[in-house]
Amino acid sequence: MIRDVANETRPREDLEALQLKRLQAVVERVYHLVPFYRRRLDEAGLKPEQIRTLDDLRLLPFTTKQDLRDNYPFGMFAAPMDQVVRIHASSGTTGKSTPVAYTQRDLETWAELMARTLAAAGAHRGDIVHNAYGYGLFTGGLGFHYGAERLGAAVIPVSGGQTRRQIMLLQDFGPTVLVCTPSFALYLAEVGQELGMDFKKLQLRVGIFGAEPWTEGMRTEIENRLNLDAVDIYGLSEIIGPGVSVECIEGKSGLHMFEDHFLPEIIDPATLQPVPPGEMGELVITTITKEAMPLLRYRTRDVTSLNYAPCLCGRTLARMNRIRGRSDDMLIIRGVNVFPSQIEAILMETPGVAPHYQLIVDREGQLDTLEVQVEVDEAAFSDEVKQLQSLAQNIQRQIKDYLTVSVKVRLVEPRSIPRSEGKAKRVIDQRQI
Ligand SMILES: [Zn+2]
Repeated sequence: MIRDVANETRPREDLEALQLKRLQAVVERVYHLVPFYRRRLDEAGLKPEQIRTLDDLRLLPFTTKQDLRDNYPFGMFAAPMDQVVRIHASSGTTGKSTPVAYTQRDLETWAELMARTLAAAGAHRGDIVHNAYGYGLFTGGLGFHYGAERLGAAVIPVSGGQTRRQIMLLQDFGPTVLVCTPSFALYLAEVGQELGMDFKKLQLRVGIFGAEPWTEGMRTEIENRLNLDAVDIYGLSEIIGPGVSVECIEGKSGLHMFEDHFLPEIIDPATLQPVPPGEMGELVITTITKEAMPLLRYRTRDVTSLNYAPCLCGRTLARMNRIRGRSDDMLIIRGVNVFPSQIEAILMETPGVAPHYQLIVDREGQLDTLEVQVEVDEAAFSDEVKQLQSLAQNIQRQIKDYLTVSVKVRLVEPRSIPRSEGKAKRVIDQRQI
């Protein structure tokens, strides 16, 4: 369902006029209120009034995670503390976490965007939302919480961890919507199965999964095992938290970006130049309505592409394709760019292996090596050694064919790869460079 028809189905011309007006206002705001941006714009010889068209976005400087660290803790804030009503911090997947701030109006915007997000996934008033995203500094838990309340749904603020207890709540409280990371959804499926729970008997209808990259293969696996429709959501705390983009349940093919609040670009991470429309590159976002901490051209490091084709749900908002990895997590193995998600896609299509794997990167002499450790499922585990060897060789061959890189595949026992209750650790880099 489309919650905000006016804003989600705007003709592109109207949308662009609105974006330009908002972009001009935000450049003006940060120039006058954030010394960091004033310096950057002055260095570039740029005044806010020189932003006359949306293409002038390219004149603006990029903002990086390092810039946020350099201005730690509150140097990026564009609102005085008596206007700030909430502070979160990035989840700290890489390096030191950085704080982000919200004014009252920012929180209103965020709740509204999360209500749009839940509605796009098919949630509505009367639903019960099992929210297993972490509550705390991480934006996932509270982002969903206020969005679900705004929508009029009932929230179970279960947060992360205590998996067995969560299984009990899924059975007893009958939630209809599950929100968590995709790896945790699979973990719930696994623990539920161990406890003899039948997911078909639950009330769950839809799941909104994000905060880590996942694949179409994983979607199929989650939908089959949890007996629900699974949609992808994207967001990052620096921009607002969850609620930047989401898949519609009608299309399930790319995530509609709320372009009336976030202006997206795709650049080549090496040259920093925009890539041709539809091509893959690093997602860069300018927040055009944030008050407390607007960011100009923030380099998300997430690799994706944008699709402006109309969607069957009726939204006119551009769609991001699934995140294919991170431009800075991109593994370069003997000169080949490898994203963990590409390997995951191959594993998910291979019968006999479970969706749990780790990539071990190492270096022998001057050569990078990549070992793929993947669990076999119970059925394959009881096979003869010869069959297991041929399974490993088959995966090796497919990775070589698809990614043109030679890897070693090691099959490991069911349940031997550490499980995660948050973001799964997929890559272990042992290179000492
Ligand atoms: Zn759609």
